[in-house]
Amino acid sequence: MVAEGGGRPGYWLHLEASADATLADLDSFLRDIWLECCGHLSLFNIGGQTYTQTSDAPDFMWAGEFDDESMDVELRKVLGPGIKFSHEYDFGTTTYLTLKVVSEREGDVKGKSVRLLAQNNPPLIKCRSCGNRATYVCGQCIYSSDTAWVCDACAPDHECGEDMLLPVVNSPRVGMCGYTG
Ligand SMILES: [Zn+2]
Ligand SMILES: [Zn+2]
Ligand SMILES: [Zn+2]
Repeated sequence: MVAEGGGRPGYWLHLEASADATLADLDSFLRDIWLECCGHLSLFNIGGQTYTQTSDAPDFMWAGEFDDESMDVELRKVLGPGIKFSHEYDFGTTTYLTLKVVSEREGDVKGKSVRLLAQNNPPLIKCRSCGNRATYVCGQCIYSSDTAWVCDACAPDHECGEDMLLPVVNSPRVGMCGYTG
């Protein structure tokens, strides 16, 4: 499988998953490597059908639509070569991912049911003040200001204050909510 940041295709993962793994396994893999900040809800959309977590938590019902299906379904039942699908993490400050099944093979998958084959190198993002490599991004003005990306030296001068700065990490969720990698 290939996973890409929606609107941020410079962030990508090549994955291999067992057909016996579930969408919930894939969801937790994506959270671990790219997404998890504060336990937000997430979903997959495969051919117009949405799949969400099942949970006994009393406040769960507000999130799911009645026609959602459970992520506790094996990949073999919902995916196959050529199928494109999407993932959303956090229904407020949403990170969108696009995924595609490239091919399938027969063989044993050792260890984890989803594993990483390859990943993009961290893209070079420049400090908007001095042009050096940016190490922080402002979670407050990332959407509105071109000056949100700063380096160590320029960070103390950022207009929103240093408390708003998040580390620049190799993920399509960089700078969103409280994501620190
Ligand atoms: Zn969060
Ligand atoms: Zn700088
Ligand atoms: Zn700012």
